Amino acid sequence: MHEPCRAVTAFDAALHSLIADMVATMYAAEGVGLAANQVGVGLKIFVFDCPADDGYFHHGVVCNPTVRVPTGRDRVLDDGDEGCLSLPGAFVTCPRPDFAEVTGVDLFGEPVSYSGDGLLARCLQHETDHLDGIVFADRLSKRARKTLLKEAARSSESFPADWPATAG
Ligand code: ZN
Repeated sequence: MHEPCRAVTAFDAALHSLIADMVATMYAAEGVGLAANQVGVGLKIFVFDCPADDGYFHHGVVCNPTVRVPTGRDRVLDDGDEGCLSLPGAFVTCPRPDFAEVTGVDLFGEPVSYSGDGLLARCLQHETDHLDGIVFADRLSKRARKTLLKEAARSSESFPADWPATAG
């Protein structure tokens, strides 16, 4: 999970069937996003279906994403809870910029861009991080990371693997 993924170069039937599997896996796990390396494929692809602060769910597929977040005076950190389908059932506070824009290409190689606030901003950053070999535990303080791993260990004992999580 700490290895950066490779860029997608072939927008073929194999890619489309991988993306269909990722979407199905995300919904089965009740996550809001999923990166290809979470299902063992080292390609830069993520899928998401996630609410923003407007209450609406936004969904899409992004290959080869680049994420931009506000800098300087426009940068406001949101202190929301974050989880990850790779650590089911565990959530900790993870400060992140409250807005994010992702650009990349879709499953046909056509340019796409998604942006948003709320949980969507968090999700777009979290999934792009995965593809760059960064897991959100890397962005936590030592103490928060400890809490996260403890919670993950506890919930893997008490819940089945498909325990719903608002995570990606
Ligand atoms: Zn994750």
